[in-house]
Order: sequence, then structure tokens, then C-alpha cells
Amino acid sequence: MITMLLKLLSEAGDEAVLSGSAARPYYGPVFDRLLKARILVEQAPLEDWDLCNECQCGLLARPVRPFGDRFRADCPLDASRDVVLERDDLRVFEISVAVLMGEIATAAGFDQPPVEIIKSLWCLGETRSGRGIYYGLNLASLNRSSLIAVIRQSNKAGQATIITQKASPATKQWLREAGIDHANVGDVIKPAENRLGFVFGHHALDAATGAPELIVQIKAAQIEWQGRSATFSHQIFPVFQRLLEKAGSRDAIASGPFLEDTSGREAKDLIRELRDQMKTAGFSDAESKSLIKTARNRGYFLGVDAESISVIG
Ligand SMILES: [Zn+2]
Repeated sequence: MITMLLKLLSEAGDEAVLSGSAARPYYGPVFDRLLKARILVEQAPLEDWDLCNECQCGLLARPVRPFGDRFRADCPLDASRDVVLERDDLRVFEISVAVLMGEIATAAGFDQPPVEIIKSLWCLGETRSGRGIYYGLNLASLNRSSLIAVIRQSNKAGQATIITQKASPATKQWLREAGIDHANVGDVIKPAENRLGFVFGHHALDAATGAPELIVQIKAAQIEWQGRSATFSHQIFPVFQRLLEKAGSRDAIASGPFLEDTSGREAKDLIRELRDQMKTAGFSDAESKSLIKTARNRGYFLGVDAESISVIG
């Protein structure tokens, strides 16, 4: 739910509203809590409805009128284009960005209310080390140089991370050049069945600060990941190296035949053995599958971005 709201905000900015029909699949306890927390604020129900496609009726909108326990919006010209509406279809919810940012900052453990330092750019707070954490609602709408200037001005330690929806490689590039780290919303704010339905992952922010997420020691056939290490047998390590090689390419997926090349055994067996050796080293089954991922019918890939991997010879 929260993921959907943040996506909506990144597309429509702080004017974003949630329609009743878009909200309906989310109705339930989390939705009610968002209303109660006033992250979602219900507006007066719609009194008119969009015209039918390319209608020649000359109206600006079709008035909505009651129809039994439902509603209808008629086309003056063509009865086959009349629509019957449920009460839910007429509901409209405004997303209160300030309250939402406040909840994110609270989930992150920041004790000051967040501040919108320029339109669409929120300062959520500062970590203990003095790193400024920012949320960019819609990075594309922000002026690059004023964003850099305002972040530099508001953060004295000179360390900043901005959280946004997926940024383009070009955006990541200019942020990096300005000394601003970038983290994806989806990596930091994750759905959870807690009070408002999300958790804030600080480790995703640490990952964005440039420290490698995965370290591969080629000579020792060893990896370090999530604070633990695993050593692979020298028979199976070349398969891992093939995944690694693919991680740096445009399509990060290694096909079965590409992996099988190293041994003559079937790819699924090779992958199982890699995961088994991770488990022997203390990783869980789920962890082994989240580092060495399966792309159904296509092959396998490493669940770490190439730029977060450090390879030591
Ligand atoms: Zn019409």
C-alpha cells in the first residue's frame, strides 16, 4: 500500500490523489490505519464523472445521479455508454505528503519532523554520523543545481543520501558527481504488516553510501555478504564467476548453457551446489536464493547490483 502511494506521488507530485477504484484492492486494516493516521484524507465524493471517449455531447463532465443503491453517469447522446457506479467509485482520497514523510522519518528513528526544503524535496533527518537523509518525491521535476545547493546548505557534515523512485543512470551519475548518494525507495521502504504497513531499512542506506554489498575474493574462492562469508569449492567457484561476469553486463542473467559451459553438468545442479555451499557456511536457504537468484525460464543472476560488488584478485 505505502509503496503504491509513494509511486503515485513520484508520478503526480504532491497533488496526487487516490481514486476509490484504485484504492479498493487495498481496503482493509492497513488502509484504515492510513486514514486514521491522516496519511490518506477522504475528500467529498465525486459529483461528476469523465465524459465517454471523444464524446460530442458538449458537457465538461457527466453529472452523477443516484440509481437505487448505486449511482449512474449517463451520456446524453448514447445510452450504451452510460455507466453504473458503486459508492466506492466516487470516493477520493488526498495523500498528505507531510504526514507521510513524518511517518517515514519516525520509522527511520529520526525525532524531528521532516522539512520540505524545496518543493518535492524533503529532509527526513540526520543519522547519528551526521548524514543527511532526503526524500525526493519527483526527481525529474527538480532543478539539478538548486537541489545540490540546498542539500549542501542543509547538511553541514557534507554527507547526504537521497531516496527516490528508481533513478536513471544519468541521474545517478550527476548525483554521484555532486557527492550525493542515492537509494531506491523500494530498497529502503519495505512493506510490512506493522502499524502503517511499512518498515524503514537503514542497511539499504548504508549500502548506498558506497561500501560494497558483496566482496568476492577470487583467489580464495570466497564471498562476503551481509556480514558473513562463504568459501566455495574450486570445482564450483567458476560457476559463481560466470554469474559475476554477467552481473557487470547489460543483461545480468546468465543462461543455463552459459553456466554449464564450465563443467558439463546441468545448470540447476550447479546452482543448487552453490547455494548448498552458502548454506554450509551458515546462510539460510532464503538468503542463498536472494544472492543467487532464479529468473524463471531464463537462467540465474546475482541479486546485487554490479556497482555494489567489489572483486579482489
Ligand atoms: Zn458521451
